[in-house]
Amino acid sequence: MISYGKQHITKSDIESVTKVLKSNFLTQGPQVPLFEGSIKKIIKSNYCIATSSATSALHISCLALGLKKGDIFWTSPITFAASANCALYCEAIVDFVDIDPLTFNMSTKALEEKLILAKKKNKLPKIVMPVHLGGLSCDMKLIYKLSKKYGFKIIEDASHCIGAKYLKQPVGSCLFSDITVFSFHPVKIITTAEGGIAATNNKKIAHKMQILRSHGITKDKNFFQNNNHGSWYYEQVELGFHYRMSDIHAALGCSQVKKLNQFIKKRHRIAKIYDEKLKDLPISAQFQSPNTISSRHLYIIRIPDNISKYSKKEIFHKMISHGIGVNLHYIPVYQHPRYKKLNIKKKNFPNSETYYKEAMSLPIHPEIKRVDVIRVVNTLKKLF
Ligand SMILES: *Cc1c(COP(=O)(O)O)cnc(C)c1O
Repeated sequence: MISYGKQHITKSDIESVTKVLKSNFLTQGPQVPLFEGSIKKIIKSNYCIATSSATSALHISCLALGLKKGDIFWTSPITFAASANCALYCEAIVDFVDIDPLTFNMSTKALEEKLILAKKKNKLPKIVMPVHLGGLSCDMKLIYKLSKKYGFKIIEDASHCIGAKYLKQPVGSCLFSDITVFSFHPVKIITTAEGGIAATNNKKIAHKMQILRSHGITKDKNFFQNNNHGSWYYEQVELGFHYRMSDIHAALGCSQVKKLNQFIKKRHRIAKIYDEKLKDLPISAQFQSPNTISSRHLYIIRIPDNISKYSKKEIFHKMISHGIGVNLHYIPVYQHPRYKKLNIKKKNFPNSETYYKEAMSLPIHPEIKRVDVIRVVNTLKKLF
């Protein structure tokens, strides 16, 4: 089976991890700050807070921006559920903005229309979370402009997106957002096994997230509210969580980061083969806007109805039976049973609904060989 995504682990990764296992620190040693430093350098943000997962980073991002019970939160329906769950953890009201049919990202047109309506009803969102689907950045400059006009905060879910660029700047530089979150789950661009990072340029937000990821405890005497009892003293100033990354995970991250460029290059090579070899089929791929350089986390194609003798669903299952691990990113979040009770109407998301019927992700990751890519192409072509 050619899997749709997979980690690429080499000897240097294994050595990096075993070195930590032989050291004095398995957690809270030097590796986490090192990893944060190396990501900071790549994405050009002022602060990086490493966490146990992107999900936990998204949660403390919402908290750091003050998302509370009853506040309104919007994201894209075409994403992993974690992009919306983080707001439910804060007891916020979750709603969605339909996608653009070409980029598959949150539509800025739909966003603006929804904002105009929300303003009339006095129901503007506190936070909007654009998701950079498959590694393709949303149009952040436009979303940022809207945020100034309508007064909302922005968290970028860049889980797919480390190594990508927007307007020549790395995604994560937070030029057009308050916080950007990355995931280091094994199927993502680089991995720490489990892990994430929240990046920001705001000192206060960074400090808040640092405290929230570690129980709400501070050891910095500048932030003590009571008198300092002595050198053992620390204070719990908030109700935080245990969302830290371990040094073992961070060590894997430190050695993976060194291969980021190489991984992205490989992904672009694979995408280029798909672009070229599939261009004669009556399908479409995600539109790569000239403002962006995608990390090429996913290669998503759309297969409209009635263009092949098989339906998309049949093509999907036939690809699997031929040993090709296609996938579907994603089921619209509002369709999940847990979200059904929010009473969100499918008819408000026509582009997401059609996307879900047509989308299929082809295998793309650093370990795929050219012959495998050709096999994917030929299998797909035969089904047409
Ligand atoms: C993977 C992913 C997450 C969650 O990442 P974890 O590190 O597994 O918590 C969130 N959002 C999107 C879009 C993702 O793809």
